[in-house]
Amino acid sequence: MLYAKTAPKESIVVKGARVLDPAAAVDDVLDVRVDNGVIAEVGTVLQANGHRVVEAGGLLLAPAFVDPHVHLRTPGREDEETIESGTKAAAAGGFCAIFAMPNTEPVVDSAAVLGALIETARAEAEIPVGFLAAITKGQQGGELTEMGELADSGAAAFSDDGQPVQSPGLMRRALQYSAVAGRRLALHCEEPTLSSAGQMHEGAVSAELGFAGYPSVAESVMIGRDLELAAYEDQPLHLLHLSAKESVELLGRAQAEGVRASGEVTPHHLCLTDEAVRSLDSNVKMNPPLRSEEDRRALVEALRDGTIGAVATDHAPHARHEKEVPFEAAPFGVTGLETAFAALHTHLVVPGLIPLETLIERMSAGAARVYGLTPPAIEVGAPANLVLLDTAGSWRVTEEAFRSRSNNSWLLGQKLQGQVRMTVANGRVVHEG
Ligand SMILES: [Zn+2]
Ligand SMILES: [Zn+2]
Repeated sequence: MLYAKTAPKESIVVKGARVLDPAAAVDDVLDVRVDNGVIAEVGTVLQANGHRVVEAGGLLLAPAFVDPHVHLRTPGREDEETIESGTKAAAAGGFCAIFAMPNTEPVVDSAAVLGALIETARAEAEIPVGFLAAITKGQQGGELTEMGELADSGAAAFSDDGQPVQSPGLMRRALQYSAVAGRRLALHCEEPTLSSAGQMHEGAVSAELGFAGYPSVAESVMIGRDLELAAYEDQPLHLLHLSAKESVELLGRAQAEGVRASGEVTPHHLCLTDEAVRSLDSNVKMNPPLRSEEDRRALVEALRDGTIGAVATDHAPHARHEKEVPFEAAPFGVTGLETAFAALHTHLVVPGLIPLETLIERMSAGAARVYGLTPPAIEVGAPANLVLLDTAGSWRVTEEAFRSRSNNSWLLGQKLQGQVRMTVANGRVVHEG
């Protein structure tokens, strides 16, 4: 399900880090030895066995992160991102695996387009990447793709991200066919007749600024529909980029009733509100839009209590000339791979809103479970998927530092606390900084 370039595995010993693996209930100062890409020993004062030694006193070693929602813009917009640049950006952000959305040019709706992507990933992906295929042909919402064939060809899941599946009847059939294909649906929930032409969250700020509103109910009404269909068909589904309090309440209620639904939330929806739009910076324009403080608090609480099990960046690179236009004319989306941990550590962990353990779990094991990956773990016998973090280190976000081909970040110029010092993905050191 994941594809990367083939490269030799490595042997290293990470010495003296605080090793934190919330899923394995490990939290201690330990050494970790990796033999040929596999965790061989975890203990105190390990022998180096001739391996390269990484001195990590004062640093935190955790399972590396997984991002279930990335736009790699390939094929079609390689000026904005490529598999190579996007996976390098992910490695710099501490990720050991990412999943790419199919709303490319052309759309990933056939085995041929998917096969070409997989071939490119095998040549240039720095870290393992999985590809979602479209639910409907051309993401037009009219006709289902050949889900069985796409699954056999390597699709990790199915999504029309960027667009909702408007027809309830088609969504029902998509649930049925995805079950046969053995892959999950990942849904961008938006009722277009309610969101139409909306530039930002509908509320006091949109009224003041005179922008067309995109109300919360445009998201929650579709989430309600899809959760009901999932319950009726008894099939699992994943809800992309939750933004509204009502959506979270619907998800929590459905989960309590036994619906196998998962949800994700982005760093920008966890850290910002519609107040940020007063800056008229096109780097705070995204779909779904930044919502109210009440919504933001509900998202933080849902991430804390596990109703939302995963953080996803929805990394959406855009060319500078397309973002540097008036707010109303700018496309939706912001980058996020290289800043996700630092942003959430700074805005949620440092002020005490979310424990560090919870953030690590939601960015690694929780995110891995969305599409059924084995969660990264710091245990003997597991492939080395590790991130070495300096939680005290602070840095300023600048355009020059990005490995991504785009720099439409809402964090430009900000000082953040929390730095990725090293990333190990599937047994290879893929980033050191
Ligand atoms: Zn979306
Ligand atoms: Zn997206």
